[in-house]
Amino acid sequence: MTARKRILTGIRPTGPLHLGHYAGALETWVRLQHDYECYFLIADYQVSDYADDIPRVREAVWEVALDWLAVGLDPENSAFVIESLVPEHAELTTLLGWFLPVSMLERNPTLKSEMAAMENPEDGSTERKSVPVAFYTYPVMQVANILMPRAHLVPVGEDQLPHIELTRETARRFNRRFKEVFPEPEALVGRVPRLVGLDGNAKMSKSRGNTIDLKDDAETVARKIRSMYGGPPRGANEPGRCDENPIFLYLRAFDPDTEGLRQLEHDYETRGVPNQVLKDRLTRALNDLLDPFRERRAYYQARMRLVRDALASGSERMRRIARETMDMVHDALDLNYLEKY
Ligand code: ATP
Ligand code: MG
Repeated sequence: MTARKRILTGIRPTGPLHLGHYAGALETWVRLQHDYECYFLIADYQVSDYADDIPRVREAVWEVALDWLAVGLDPENSAFVIESLVPEHAELTTLLGWFLPVSMLERNPTLKSEMAAMENPEDGSTERKSVPVAFYTYPVMQVANILMPRAHLVPVGEDQLPHIELTRETARRFNRRFKEVFPEPEALVGRVPRLVGLDGNAKMSKSRGNTIDLKDDAETVARKIRSMYGGPPRGANEPGRCDENPIFLYLRAFDPDTEGLRQLEHDYETRGVPNQVLKDRLTRALNDLLDPFRERRAYYQARMRLVRDALASGSERMRRIARETMDMVHDALDLNYLEKY
């Protein structure tokens, strides 16, 4: 039997997971989990922007693991990893930093926009934050995360593509200069590369509070959709443009009845359909999607020891492969000083 190729991907423990995570990433993880050897990382070294709220991070580690189980990831098959239980990630980050010029971080568009948002929050209520050193270098740590299990594939949302490019560049440089250690990993963007937020913002994101969470109950989903942004103002039976109404983006992403949806889009553009009709349809589609997740979540929530065991054994599995990789790296860089005498 040939060895399965490897996947590494991850999520920061900064809050419960939402529909953007699902459509952009998790759905692909679930689909590929049996074809690849998978390492799913809870990236708790990369929460420097939440360093003043560690209780939230502690809570989110469990939330993320529960959400993974809820969507159907199988910890018997894939490793659920807590990053800080594999401190080799920190070591590899340091060593790879030797080979990455600062200019590559300065050019990284995702990092640039995240730092700008931190320094100049659009939402007037949040105070300006200065950017921690560890935030500036988090893409290097992500490179180390991906290279650690010598992964071949990285399923992620679109905002992560610059980081994967950085990873490929680092692998090329290292292999050329020293020894062929790292495969050059491919990115795989999910069905919905970037899901918009309920407020119409370009990205549904934990930090903006514009999310529908995978753990929301049916009533919460209905309430959030009732108040979601439905495009520019329009009379109830006035025709509109589907592309100006984010409800359609959601329906296209989550309503399995594509035939019925096409008809609805036609009606909307020709004779007008009230937003309430669209919202009712979306609420039904989302609750149908989320119901089985809620059931599995409840099962594990009543058995947190199973969740704990999944994290412990997954982290241990990653640790074994991390030691293997670090041996290869030390050997390639010729850092085995004590072997001299
Ligand atoms: P934060 O706002 O705290 O950075 P986040 O919601 O961006 O949180 P991450 O942990 O940074 O979450 O991202 C985890 C994964 O989910 C990444 O692959 C990312 O691309 C994907 N993802 C997050 N939000 C979306 C979205 N709105 N649409 C598509 N993919 C998304
Ligand atoms: Mg993010």
